[in-house]
Amino acid sequence: MDTINFGAGPAKLPREVMCKVQRDFLNYENSGISVVEMSHRSAEYEKINNDAQKELRSLLNVPENYKIIFLQGGGTGIFAAVAMNLMGRTGSADYFVTGSWSSKAAKEASKYGKVNLVLPKTDVYTEVPDKSTWKLDPQASYVYYCANETIHGVEFPFIPDVDVPLVADMSSNFLSRPVDVSKFGVIYAAAQKNIGPAGVTLVIIREDLLGNPLPICPLILDFTVMAKDNSLHNTPPTFGVYVMGQVFKWVTEQGGVEEMERLAKLKSELIYSTIENSGGFYFTSVKAGYRSRMNVPFRIKNSELEPEFLKEAKNLKMIQLKGHRLVGGIRASLYNAITMEETQAFKKFMEDFMKAHK
Ligand code: PMP
Repeated sequence: MDTINFGAGPAKLPREVMCKVQRDFLNYENSGISVVEMSHRSAEYEKINNDAQKELRSLLNVPENYKIIFLQGGGTGIFAAVAMNLMGRTGSADYFVTGSWSSKAAKEASKYGKVNLVLPKTDVYTEVPDKSTWKLDPQASYVYYCANETIHGVEFPFIPDVDVPLVADMSSNFLSRPVDVSKFGVIYAAAQKNIGPAGVTLVIIREDLLGNPLPICPLILDFTVMAKDNSLHNTPPTFGVYVMGQVFKWVTEQGGVEEMERLAKLKSELIYSTIENSGGFYFTSVKAGYRSRMNVPFRIKNSELEPEFLKEAKNLKMIQLKGHRLVGGIRASLYNAITMEETQAFKKFMEDFMKAHK
C-alpha cells in the first residue's frame, strides 16, 4: 500500500489531480512554459482564473449576485479581512466560538470593532451549544462561525438561522457537502485542506456587502478591490489557483458535492463506529451530532499507548496522524481526496492495534 496521508492541512490532494499537475508542469497546454513561469496578465492565466470560478459556480450553484475571489494571506488573513470589509456597517459583529479557529477569528476581529460572543464562554469545545444559550445582537454587522473546527473536530450540522449577513469559515469542510450559498453573506476557505495547496484562499461574497471597507483595510485584503479586478489587482497565487481549478474539475467528475457528502459520511462513520465499538479503548470527547466528518480527533484511554499507535501507523505508511498540540492524541483527517480503501485500511489498523494492546 502507498503512503496514506491523514494530515489536517496541507493535506492529501486527489491522485488524479497531482498526476495532471505533474504532466502540465513543464509545458502548460503547449505554451512551452510552466504555470509557475507564466504572467498573470496572460490569456492563459486569465482562462485559468475564469475557469476555476466557473467550475466552482456550477459545483455549488453560486447565485449570480455573488462574487468569487481568490486571495492570499491564508485563513488568518481572512480573519482580519472579514472584519475590515464588513464591520463598517454598525461597528460590531457576533461570533460563534466553537473551537480554536473561531476563537482566533474573534480575537483578530476585535482589533477592528466590537465583538460579541454568541455562546457562553468556554475552552472545552465538544459541541454547538443549544439555541437557547445563543445571544444574537440584531445590530451586529454580521454573524461569524466556523463550519468545521479542524483541531477540535466540531462541525456545525446546520446553518445558523440569523437575520444579519452570515459569514462562514469553511476552510476544512468546503466542498464536502452541498451548501445553499444564498443563506450566506460570505463563505471562505483556505485552500490547503480540501481544495488545493497552501497560498490561496477563496471568498464567495454577496455583492451588496461590497463597497464598505474600513479605510485602514489593505488593498490585498479589500474584497471590493479584489472583486472589481477579478482577483488580479496584484500578482495572485497563480499556481494555487490553477491547482484549485483542477480540484474543482475533479470534484465535478466524481459526481459533485453530493457524492463528496455521501463519501464523507461513510468514511467518518467507519472511524467513529470503530471508536464507539472499542469498549472505551479509543474515545472522542466530541458529542454525537457535532462530530466532524472531515477531522476525527480521538484519544486512547491509556494515553501512554498513543506514541506507539503513531509509530506503528507510520510503519504501515499511515502518516500525519498526530493530534494538534493543543489537544494531543490522534487526529485522522478524511478530506475528499482520502479514499474509502484508505479509510478502511486505517480502521483495520485501529482494530488490530486494539487487539494487540488491550
Ligand atoms: N480556519 C480553519 C478552519 C483552519 O483549519 C485554519 C488552519 N489551517 C485556519 C482557519 C487558518 O488558516 P491559515 O493557516 O491558512 O492562516
